[in-house]
Amino acid sequence: MTASAAAGVQMVAARPCISASPGILTARVAVSRTDCMLSTTATFPKISCSWPLRFKRNDVVVRAISEECGPQGLPIDLRGKRAFIAGVADDNGYGWAIAKALAAAGAEILVGTWVPALNIFETSLRRGKFDESRKLPDGSLMDIVKVYPLDAVYDSPDDVPEDVKSNKRYAGASNWTVKEVVESVRNDFGSIDILVHSLANGPEVTKPLLETSRRGYLAAISASSYSYVSLLQHFLPIMNPGGASISLTYIASERAIPGYGGGMSSAKAALESDTRVLAFEAGRKGKIRVNTISAGPLGSRAAKAIGFIEKMIEYSYVNAPLQKELLADEVGNTAAFLVSSLASAITGSTVYVDNGLNTMGLAIDSPTITS
Ligand code: NAD
Repeated sequence: MTASAAAGVQMVAARPCISASPGILTARVAVSRTDCMLSTTATFPKISCSWPLRFKRNDVVVRAISEECGPQGLPIDLRGKRAFIAGVADDNGYGWAIAKALAAAGAEILVGTWVPALNIFETSLRRGKFDESRKLPDGSLMDIVKVYPLDAVYDSPDDVPEDVKSNKRYAGASNWTVKEVVESVRNDFGSIDILVHSLANGPEVTKPLLETSRRGYLAAISASSYSYVSLLQHFLPIMNPGGASISLTYIASERAIPGYGGGMSSAKAALESDTRVLAFEAGRKGKIRVNTISAGPLGSRAAKAIGFIEKMIEYSYVNAPLQKELLADEVGNTAAFLVSSLASAITGSTVYVDNGLNTMGLAIDSPTITS
């Protein structure tokens, strides 16, 4: 069986255990499904790996599978890609898990951290508090190349009110509005390939919608939905074509989840609708894919502010088709897949990573989650 040179190169280059060297090796290579050989005439980066090179009928034959490198599969390869993840301030949330999954696939990681949480996050990072959870599957530690202070509620310095400017939680940080962060990333790195929005805030989240103020409702939309529009709008000009973006949503956008209040359900509905529109616009304008992951409940710092996250987790465990704990890593791995070239035809989608809870029309085994 033969394969195109390009496919052969992709198969070789995509294996995470191979490190490419600047040298170029031109070879005739043969592919066979049964013995996992590549077979074509190809020019590809010279590789350093413990795989044996063998000669067969005047061809250089490269083994596409070896015990050291694991079985042949569909690798998620993000080497050479740069990701900006907005909404990482500790190692408990989805943003952290996504950063780890992208790092494990080889991406360079930049994060945007909410200004009031910046000091503690950077201090903890420096002091090694996160070292255990920075561990990647190959044993190395995730490298966060740069942490940017960010407040995604403000697009440019002109939008920042005096009381925020003079707030001591913002003292010492600069250039943290969306526009300024993007300018800093452009100055530091030139471009990115992946944008992740993993942030939300609803100051009145514990209030039922019927008791939510206009101010609280609009604040939830501003921090949790428009922040994504703004980030993508500003990052798009420095995103490389073929790149991808994802956000995190929650099933309360579609079904009534009593207790997820303060306009947060509305904010998630807006985020999902915007995902479709932004997918169209960013696809046409910059060849960028836009998807959102509807994640199941996780006991993150933000979720604890809702007040009954443990009950939501238990409810999910009892009622979902898959009765198992939902791991943040499962969301991280899905994000890595969605931003990779393996998902090159997926855009404008809401992808459920929730043990199937979204399929349930009626809770069968559990009392109300707010009791
Ligand atoms: P998290 O606490 O790890 O992440 C939320 C982050 O948002 C925090 O780092 C916080 O500092 C940041 N943030 C808040 N306001 C900000 C602002 N104005 N500018 C910049 N950053 C700001 O919690 P998480 O639960 O992992 O949340 C990540 C995303 O996942 C959110 O969109 C959330 O709605 C979504 N989600 C969470 C769950 C859950 O059960 N935890 C379920 C579905 C979806």
